[in-house]
Amino acid sequence: MGIQGMLNINDAPEKAKRIFARLVNDFEEQEINPTPLNYYVWYEFLKGDNPQFRSEMESILQDPFGYNDRAGKRLYQEYLQEEMEATGEFDRAFRRLLNLMIQKMNLWSDKLEEHTQQLDDCAHSLANPDIDANELKKITHTVISTAQSMNESNRLFQQEMMLSSDEIKHLRQELLEAQTAALTDELTEIGNRKAFNNALQETIINFNEGSDLHGFCLIFTDIDHFKRFNDSYGHLVGDSVLRYFANIMKKNQKRHETICRYGGEEFAIIMPNASLEEARERAEQIRSGIESAVLKRKDSSEPLRTITASFGISCFHNENDSAEELITRADKALYEAKRQGRNCIVDENEMGRPSIAP
Ligand code: GH3
Ligand code: MG
Ligand code: MG
Repeated sequence: MGIQGMLNINDAPEKAKRIFARLVNDFEEQEINPTPLNYYVWYEFLKGDNPQFRSEMESILQDPFGYNDRAGKRLYQEYLQEEMEATGEFDRAFRRLLNLMIQKMNLWSDKLEEHTQQLDDCAHSLANPDIDANELKKITHTVISTAQSMNESNRLFQQEMMLSSDEIKHLRQELLEAQTAALTDELTEIGNRKAFNNALQETIINFNEGSDLHGFCLIFTDIDHFKRFNDSYGHLVGDSVLRYFANIMKKNQKRHETICRYGGEEFAIIMPNASLEEARERAEQIRSGIESAVLKRKDSSEPLRTITASFGISCFHNENDSAEELITRADKALYEAKRQGRNCIVDENEMGRPSIAP
């Protein structure tokens, strides 16, 4: 059975993809065995359709022993075994794989039971004090062949499980690739608007949850008079300038910094734990970098007009701040930079709001 044949990840509903991405992350973080059953239980948990199951799972996660294979098996039997009703293409494919695994496990456990029964019978015969040498020989023979057969079925089972685990790895890889593609801007190969929204949301959650994040800044930048540039040299040359600009932004990228194409010729940087001053310095690096770039047409080496960009900066101050307000302030500052003549940096404190350090 090939997972490719039964499931095209790109067709999987967004919700399922999101759940699976979270699942992959949880498995790594909590070091959960990537068995089909664990995938299924966790998947259903994250989907959250069954509140009783969800609350039981949450209490297991509070437990010092946390989630393990045994807990997974119990939860599966109690809550999930009965309801194998497919809800969508992704679910159906996922369940098919898991059902198959579970069938294999059941077959194996039937075999194990059969072997155990044979060994029990041998033990029973051995308890007879009048046992003769011939019978003893027969029992020994049965014990040896049962052990051999157990070994063989164990080996086959392990082999099958390894094959399925390869398929799951493959599925996981495909999902990760689909997720990365969904968050990347094709032209500039930096994060897209969605990646920006995700990063901003995550940064605000980290800030509010009292991690070691004590504030962050947002830089918005927009290439000046880009329409004119396109009109003069054509869209394709314009495209290479966008790529060039993204590379300048990436050049001095700091750790944990998110760089995205917000849309068109507008870009954004999220700078965790940066002060307003540091954000200004970072913007200045990019501003002077693009201004001093000597651009030439690739085909004819004809020199191109100098490119400049304007910058607006806002900083996240406290838990009463919001993503929308932060974006509005950076946007207003950027607008002000345009108004002041472009090719410059304006921060929110220059917009008539009180100066508050992040
Ligand atoms: P301003 O200094 O006020 O920002 O002027 P501007 O001309 O840069 O701004 P405007 O919003 O009038 O025009 C933006 C231009 O950016 C128009 C559009 O063709 C161009 N643009 C947006 N996305 C792309 C793209 O992917 N490739 C190319 N080549 N151009 C793009
Ligand atoms: Mg522009
Ligand atoms: Mg613009």
